[in-house]
Amino acid sequence: MKIWLDGGLRDAESARVSVFDHGLTVGDGVFETVKADHGRAFALTRHLERLATSARGLGLPEPDPDEVRRGCAAVLEANPMPLGRLRITYTGGLSPLGSDRGDNGTTLVIAASEAPRRPDTTAAVTVPWTRNERGALAGLKTTSYGENVVALAHAAERGASEALFANTVGQLCEGTGSNVFVVLDGELHTPPLHSGCLAGITRALTVTWAGAKETDLPLDVLERAEEIFLTSTLRDVQAVTRIDGRQLADGPGPVTAEAMRIFDERAAADFDPR
Ligand code: PMP
Repeated sequence: MKIWLDGGLRDAESARVSVFDHGLTVGDGVFETVKADHGRAFALTRHLERLATSARGLGLPEPDPDEVRRGCAAVLEANPMPLGRLRITYTGGLSPLGSDRGDNGTTLVIAASEAPRRPDTTAAVTVPWTRNERGALAGLKTTSYGENVVALAHAAERGASEALFANTVGQLCEGTGSNVFVVLDGELHTPPLHSGCLAGITRALTVTWAGAKETDLPLDVLERAEEIFLTSTLRDVQAVTRIDGRQLADGPGPVTAEAMRIFDERAAADFDPR
């Protein structure tokens, strides 16, 4: 397998990253997961913009978008696969902690892996921990994913594939790797960005394409929602058919099914040409 590391393609097995890299030592890094269909990346421009926003938010020098584009194209060409994902990781830099390496200290890694299509339905649980919508990292896609890892383990122990967070004021926020939508009285809603959720790319497209409202929602709407679904790069639109042990349905409800249909139809136009 070939990966991109700091300016060129390398064999994954022999590629080296410094043990002083700040991504490793203190976790100051940002990342993106980009879907790829037969070598074409989905919504790459949006991913590059979010990578830059996350880097700025963390005080890292902005990654060179031309290099990231070149790296993505080279990795996709070197690793042909039908449905895959690119993982762009960008770490280190001139953080207040300084660089131990004498250069600006950043590391850019781009790797591809197979990403089979996720099932259309899943189970989710809520977790006893909160997202801090006023925290320094709120809304940034940083590599500090420890709290998501813990929440995901909590979900897995309960037979679910996703864990949903409330924020510090008890409003529904997001999942560990997804945004959340609910249907209430037949209307589609999703938490606003000030809830502390990530500005999900699938979320933004779904808000526009399926006409969802951005609404502050207390966590307990999950107890009465007619339908719930998740959005993310690797899920697209995925129905939640069981939440905290409450069975909602056997399959996607009508609003979810329509959001799935619209997404599949319109997303096809957003794959970057080869
Ligand atoms: N929230 C979090 C915390 C995530 O990690 C992700 C996955 N990137 C999402 C939401 C969904 O974002 P996107 O649709 O851009 O994949």
